[in-house]
Amino acid sequence: MINEPVINIKGVGDKLYQSLVGMDIRTINDLLFYFPNRYDNYEIKPLNQLVHNEKVTIEGEIIGEPSLTFYGRKKSRLVLNVQVEHMVVKGVMFNRAFAKKQLQAGEIVTLTGKWDQHRLQITISNYKKGRAKAEDPIQPIYPLKGDVTTRQLKKLISTALTQYSHEVVEILPDEYLESYKLPPRSEALKQMHYPANFQALKHAKRRFIYEEFLLFQLKMQLLRKRHKEATEGNSQAYDYRKVDHFISRLPFKLTDAQNKSLKEILKDLESPYRMNRLLQGDVGSGKTAVAAISLYASLTAGKQSALMVPTEILAEQHYQSFKELFEGYANVVLLTGSIKGKKRKEILAKIKSQEANIIVGTHALIQDEVLFSNLGTVIIDEQHRFGVNQRKTLRDKGIHPDVLFMTATPIPRTLAITTFGDMDVSQIDEMPLGRKEIETYWVKEQMLDRVLDFIAKEVEQGHQAYVICPLIEESDKLDIQNAVDLYHQLQANYEPNIKVGLMHGRLHSNEKEEVMRQYAQNQIQVLVSTTVVEVGVNVPNATVMVIYDAERFGLSQLHQLRGRVGRGESQSYCILLADPKGDVGKERMRIMTETINGFELSEQDLQLRGPGDFFGKKQSGLPEFKVGDMVHDYRALETARNDAQDIINAGWLQNNPNYSRLYKLLKQEVILNGETLD
Ligand code: ADP
Ligand code: MG
Repeated sequence: MINEPVINIKGVGDKLYQSLVGMDIRTINDLLFYFPNRYDNYEIKPLNQLVHNEKVTIEGEIIGEPSLTFYGRKKSRLVLNVQVEHMVVKGVMFNRAFAKKQLQAGEIVTLTGKWDQHRLQITISNYKKGRAKAEDPIQPIYPLKGDVTTRQLKKLISTALTQYSHEVVEILPDEYLESYKLPPRSEALKQMHYPANFQALKHAKRRFIYEEFLLFQLKMQLLRKRHKEATEGNSQAYDYRKVDHFISRLPFKLTDAQNKSLKEILKDLESPYRMNRLLQGDVGSGKTAVAAISLYASLTAGKQSALMVPTEILAEQHYQSFKELFEGYANVVLLTGSIKGKKRKEILAKIKSQEANIIVGTHALIQDEVLFSNLGTVIIDEQHRFGVNQRKTLRDKGIHPDVLFMTATPIPRTLAITTFGDMDVSQIDEMPLGRKEIETYWVKEQMLDRVLDFIAKEVEQGHQAYVICPLIEESDKLDIQNAVDLYHQLQANYEPNIKVGLMHGRLHSNEKEEVMRQYAQNQIQVLVSTTVVEVGVNVPNATVMVIYDAERFGLSQLHQLRGRVGRGESQSYCILLADPKGDVGKERMRIMTETINGFELSEQDLQLRGPGDFFGKKQSGLPEFKVGDMVHDYRALETARNDAQDIINAGWLQNNPNYSRLYKLLKQEVILNGETLD
């Protein structure tokens, strides 16, 4: 049976079995579906079909004696001329002096290596005397771990294929295979391990990419449907008259996009289903306003509500603005890690007794000691900065609170349909009226003096500036040293006329508060800061954002930083100081100066950096696909999503026998993840 442990295969002893388990190969099925991560090509192609910089294999006759030169300590370079077709190709091999004896004039050799089209030269990584064998020109390369060797693995897979591949059943209904021209499952499986040619391999991969995406999408959508149908959620009967009154008191009129999102959220609150919604909107599009109204709505239903944000600065800022906003409407409290002792006890008691009905905080909110009394709604800002578990813990604190996630890092469509396939999405795709477009410039770091003059001019006109200090990779401590140095430098340059402030993550929270307060009141004009001001900070009088080492930030992060200005009526500027070395870096700076739309930027960022980097590694919560690549295979992902929607809407999994195998597999996988489907 294909689901037997892999130890049942002949040749697998205890030791090998342990190593295989280390590679997540437990069953024979796991072994069969352990795919190569790349393929080496030993196919011999005519010279005119070789591609520059790719690994190629050529075959020809050695002309003249190869020449060997030594340099440095123990380093050597062997050069041989080989006649291929009617051309002479140069072969270069490093540090394998011994090969000279074997490669003599007149010999026929097969050489594999990197091809340089311009010089007609190959950098040899592999050579073989004689002609290449016709069989197996495509060599699969498997990812290995522990002491398992390629030979061992190949042998096991070959045995497993012979003995068990008849048990590999088709799971996709025929019409999908036909309309997408996908090879049958067991045939595709063989091709993945023993490709007949690159064409067949391509189709086999296409099949498994589609299969993988379809299974994933079905899973996500089934779970989402189930969450919706669970009637145990809370139905919050908010008072729409009170909510309307609250809105009418705001100093501005909501945009259409804000109204639409708000309506979707309020509908979720009222419904017995549990809200699981993502609110997306570019920086400054007015998400916080929508969040505040939603929190208030929950309060009119007699519930508590909470806003969780990623940094203390932000919590403090929201708390201050909410205190004003909710004056006479709600009792707002702040809870962060640095609130301690008696004050903390008091706040915890207020939360527990529901005397506090709107709670703003950092992840301090999810600690065990925090007991909510009647949590109706939870809003999580900049959700990608929280780990999956943190979100879940908070959700679990209420009975079944409605949860809204907010993000100003616009999530590319690609990621949205994978990461958030199980969520509803609202989008604020319109900016409040009267905002001026921020002008973005990219300058070399040697132009700093002119940038400083520019800041001084803006300050003369009553405005303020941020200067984000240079970044030193992965080291918070050094970054702070940098900030301090820059702070002294700017102080020397500007004071006493212009006051310079300093902000970084290691300041005591009282100090942070004080600096932010002074900046908000224009007692500080130039704020030197690390990226702690990246999200949410709102000082509308600031009109200049200067970012050192801009090439080292992700585009979405630069966009966030840029979003700190342009929040008031005056023209604002973002100046990127950067000396990028490579083309990609230059391209990124160019994109920043040309694109102001956050969604467009994030798409481009994703293209340039790949999905793993997009949210930062650990907290990404992104699914890992074995064969598919979310960015590269985006079209397949979209197709799979649409197909999954059709299948679920029609109820085919449960009702149509053609889908029963698919359903069975799906149920197995979901159970493995600790959930059940029916
Ligand atoms: P976000 O959270 O999406 O970055 P905010 O809610 O912080 O945006 O809004 C940015 C600024 O715009 C705030 O100063 C806010 O008061 C203001 N604002 C929000 N909605 C509107 C609106 N409809 N019209 C005018 N200004 C608005
Ligand atoms: Mg915000």
